[in-house]
Amino acid sequence: MPSVKNIRPIISLVSSEDSQVRAFVGGTAVLPDRLLENSFVEFSQGKIRKISAIPKRIRSDIEVIDATGNYVTPGMIDIHVHGGAGADFMDGTHDAVAKACEAHLLHGVTTIFPTTTTGSESSIYAMMQAVASVRKESLSVNHDATLLPHVEGIHLYGPYFTPEKSGCHKKDRCRTPVRSEFESYFKTGLVKIATCAAELPGCVDFYRYAKKRGCLVTCGHSNASWSEMAAAHKAGMSHVDHFWCAMSSVASVRSRLGPPMQGSMLEFVLGHPTMSTEVIADGQHLAPELLEFAWRMKGPRMLCLVSDTSRAMDMPLGKYAFGNSSENIWIYNDGKVGRSEEGGLASSVVGLDHCVRHTASATEIPLVDVIRMATLTPAERAGIDQQTGSIEVGKRADLLLLSKKLFVKRVVRAMAEPEVR
Ligand SMILES: [Zn+2]
Ligand SMILES: [Zn+2]
Repeated sequence: MPSVKNIRPIISLVSSEDSQVRAFVGGTAVLPDRLLENSFVEFSQGKIRKISAIPKRIRSDIEVIDATGNYVTPGMIDIHVHGGAGADFMDGTHDAVAKACEAHLLHGVTTIFPTTTTGSESSIYAMMQAVASVRKESLSVNHDATLLPHVEGIHLYGPYFTPEKSGCHKKDRCRTPVRSEFESYFKTGLVKIATCAAELPGCVDFYRYAKKRGCLVTCGHSNASWSEMAAAHKAGMSHVDHFWCAMSSVASVRSRLGPPMQGSMLEFVLGHPTMSTEVIADGQHLAPELLEFAWRMKGPRMLCLVSDTSRAMDMPLGKYAFGNSSENIWIYNDGKVGRSEEGGLASSVVGLDHCVRHTASATEIPLVDVIRMATLTPAERAGIDQQTGSIEVGKRADLLLLSKKLFVKRVVRAMAEPEVR
């Protein structure tokens, strides 16, 4: 189990009322555009106050956190994640959502977007209610019983997939978007990322609706052609879920629509600078050359790292329900990845910290870009980069201390008042 080699990190929550000034001193700070060695990163009242080289004299009232020999990075942001520590967000209870969220905080994820599957309307709604309740708890300054990341919003991922590209999701649970269903999800005010396959009837209405509500609008589990992608892009879709996984290729569009061969989601994303995407960087879904290729083609500003992890994260080998157990989808955690009953890939079993370590060690991508793709880029794509995602003065003090090998040693999670988008 790669993810449990982590030593449990120290977690601190710093509230906006906490006036104690603290600073990470002597570490290599990973800034959006460069590494700053021998750095001084000061924070108080839940916000980053100063970034500089180590000053000649450090005020005696500052609590120094020795960061020598380590990296200081922004907290990670996972925009595509199903669960962890035995709990799936689709379990739909407060306890399950809190358990999975807490597990990800230990993996350095300070901001999380719980992700839905192709569950029934009532189970998706129950999940959203449970997320709302955990989000409320996460905003309370007095919660020290459970350590939670910022629950910034929900990724409405399933159910609007095409059955042809359902992956491990049940084909007969994939459905087309209809307002009477999706409107109730958006009315919770929690949906910040919204997925729909671009060839489904009603998709343009869905995209426009989600875009109007400020969501990152995405296409996933789809066999869409170039022209369907173009119509979707015009309606506000600007991101594709887990590049290369459960998406169209020239060959798959040809088998669906016949000749002439047409562009697919792949060419559309690579051909449009305004399209972003994400890679499951667990080392099992994609070979290193694909991670590097995606970075070379899209650049670090339009490519996110995601874990797409399931409840099997931090759990022993064995069989686990994917989504709510009533969906009757079972995956096998073989210690490296989740496998469907047919043996196909079915979600990862590691946290985003593992994805960062893997990408940094298996590819030529510079560390600044690797960290950006797990922090600032997802923040920008999800529209929360004014609050978090990088070490910049005025942003929330969501900070990590990572060892030279990028293991999470310490997590600082700010309790600064959330700004309304
Ligand atoms: Zn998927
Ligand atoms: Zn997924």
